Amino acid sequence: MNVADSQRVGSALEHLGYEFTGKAEEADVIVLNTCVVRQSAEDKALGRVYSLRPLKEKNPHLVINLMGCLVGVRGGARLKKKLPFVDVFSPPSDPGPLIAYLTQDESRALDEAETQRRFALMDGDLLLPTHIRGQLVSAHVPVVLGCSHACTYCIIPYRRGVERSRPAEQILAEVRSLVAQGVREVTLLGQIVDRYGKDFPEGPNLAQLLRMVHQVDGLERIRFLTSHPNYFSEELMDTVAELPKVMPHIEVPIQAGDDEVLANMKRGYTREDYYRLIETIRQRIPGCSIATDIIVGFPGETEEQFQRTYETLADLKLDVAHLARYSPREGTVSARRMEDDVPEEEKMRRFRLLEALQKEIAAEINARYLGQKVPVLFEEKVKGRWKGRTPTNKLVFVESEDDLRGQIRQVTITWTGPWSMQGALARQPIQIR
Ligand code: SAH
Repeated sequence: MNVADSQRVGSALEHLGYEFTGKAEEADVIVLNTCVVRQSAEDKALGRVYSLRPLKEKNPHLVINLMGCLVGVRGGARLKKKLPFVDVFSPPSDPGPLIAYLTQDESRALDEAETQRRFALMDGDLLLPTHIRGQLVSAHVPVVLGCSHACTYCIIPYRRGVERSRPAEQILAEVRSLVAQGVREVTLLGQIVDRYGKDFPEGPNLAQLLRMVHQVDGLERIRFLTSHPNYFSEELMDTVAELPKVMPHIEVPIQAGDDEVLANMKRGYTREDYYRLIETIRQRIPGCSIATDIIVGFPGETEEQFQRTYETLADLKLDVAHLARYSPREGTVSARRMEDDVPEEEKMRRFRLLEALQKEIAAEINARYLGQKVPVLFEEKVKGRWKGRTPTNKLVFVESEDDLRGQIRQVTITWTGPWSMQGALARQPIQIR
């Protein structure tokens, strides 16, 4: 979400005549986009913003813009006092305050006609920042902003505001313009992406939105995330199975495998419900890969309850598990009303146990790809090797002198590990899924 938001800010700044630089020392404007989902992310964001202070002292004309969840939708009044060297504070997904600041500031003001001309450009499609235009193969498109679900541990609803869906026409216009700039794959984003359109009186829902996006010529692949077990409908599953451009990969977090912990988290489903969901997904979307998220050490989580999460992961054999240690977040129900009573070392022990288990599972699943031919969409060259993904979102590296960026090529898998695979190009380029 933040990557997509940052690209938007970059794009808006270029419309104002700014150019990208990779060096903070050279910049006239620095935008720091932030995440606070766990304390570690917040610490990192604060550390980074303080590291910018010397630059501001050296160059008083430098504009520092702090953006994202550290600021939040309420604008971060307390932060403003704490960070006097920051010029502009922007909520998540909103380049507005920065643009207003830059265009109002007299020393930087453009003449009226020029301002009009540049703003006119902004009303249309999304133009990627120059340094990634024609380079970016896989782009993220936010479709649902904010979140109104109140998982007790989660700070996102407080910082990103209430759930709101973006109009389908806007999303489609954006996808079309991204494709015209070389993008081949889009990932539609929402905190609970399957709730897309629930705030519209008459649709479309996510399944219908996928059908619309599917019609965009030149677009090869579509993904979406994150799903919530209670909203991932069978209509949506069937749509994924039916539409060739929609990739068979689902991100649907379980968070815990114990019913009491799930209830304390206010997730709204039981372990049994989740098992049934996974079974249905596997029936309706054959060959689908599934990723989940898990939090260990939630307040009150006993060893026995943790063991149930462990068993769940061992049973379900999902492709990916994003693991996190519980981190109390300001303002959330769990931080206010529940004691963070699992010691740090114990959280770490549980984390490592799940990590080791998932590593084995992932290695076993990936080993089935050995010797198979799979269509890989290549994104970029990293340390001399081309990096791409299979339809099931597995990372594949291939050595090749060809320019593979944005191409889908058949690859024979020659090595597999838990986190990635290696392969060799089949001779002919074949344009299939
Ligand atoms: N809305 C999405 C993404 C939420 S943030 C979803 O519900 O999946 C991504 C992940 O961070 C969550 O799935 C959760 O596993 C983790 N997370 C959120 N709040 C957390 C907290 N307070 N402590 C530890 N992990 C947390």
